[in-house]
Amino acid sequence: TSFGYKHVPEEEKSKLVGNVFSSVASSYDVMNDLMSVGLHRLWKDRLISKLNPFPGMKHLDVAGGTGDVAFRVLDRINSVSHRAMQGTLTDIEEDTQIYVCDINSNMLNVGKKRASERGYKEGHRLSWIQGDAEALSFEDGSMDGYTIAFGIRNVTHIEKALSEAYRVLKRGGRFLCLELSHVDVPLFKEIYDVYSFSVIPAMGELVAGDRQSYQYLVESIRRFPNQEKFSQMIKDAGFEGIEYENLVGGVVAIHSGVKL
Ligand code: SAM
Repeated sequence: TSFGYKHVPEEEKSKLVGNVFSSVASSYDVMNDLMSVGLHRLWKDRLISKLNPFPGMKHLDVAGGTGDVAFRVLDRINSVSHRAMQGTLTDIEEDTQIYVCDINSNMLNVGKKRASERGYKEGHRLSWIQGDAEALSFEDGSMDGYTIAFGIRNVTHIEKALSEAYRVLKRGGRFLCLELSHVDVPLFKEIYDVYSFSVIPAMGELVAGDRQSYQYLVESIRRFPNQEKFSQMIKDAGFEGIEYENLVGGVVAIHSGVKL
């Protein structure tokens, strides 16, 4: 390939990922909308539909810095319970807790700021925790749900993140992962390749003033295991009932599994 990232040593990978998200955090929302032509919003909505959040749930969103997924989980729970209870808070609802875990404090700060703009009180149902997907600070069997959106691709040891997901989930708890994946549709694949290798780095330079980070992003999509391989990795971590759904021909995929 024409990019120099094919064999990035592990320490360097962690450093690169750190740099990417420090330099990107500010222009992050704009770039997300531009790169996915706004589709990432629909993909996240789809992720939440599959999760099917419920009042009283303990949910962990990993790599969730900006709060995009957590806000959706909370909004869904609120709309469900308001419909059922006509606005009266129940004890169950009060138990609802969404934990957002991210390795990067800049991203968490973006999320916290957005939470207060949305009128969510800190600590009330939403907790922001800085931490590594590979070594979570949560107890065994403590979560009903685990989501990771556009995050696992950046983790150094994916297997470790998966086994941590398994560890913190309760029996019956569900794992869901939204990630850029592999397109396997002739013609569309060629168009997508041109888009990702030429258009995205150029956009990164223009909008975020950072071509290298977006080249890295595109390379990391390439290196990420395809849908079948990733399913196998989820299975190897101990999960059962593994399924995946391709969106836009595999540009992104939602993988899910349950801890039995
Ligand atoms: N989930 C959000 C969304 O969909 O908009 C943010 C996705 S962003 C592309 C990837 C996030 O993963 C960044 O906030 C980054 O800091 C975080 N991240 C990278 N490596 C991580 C790790 N090992 N553990 C936890 N978070 C990590």
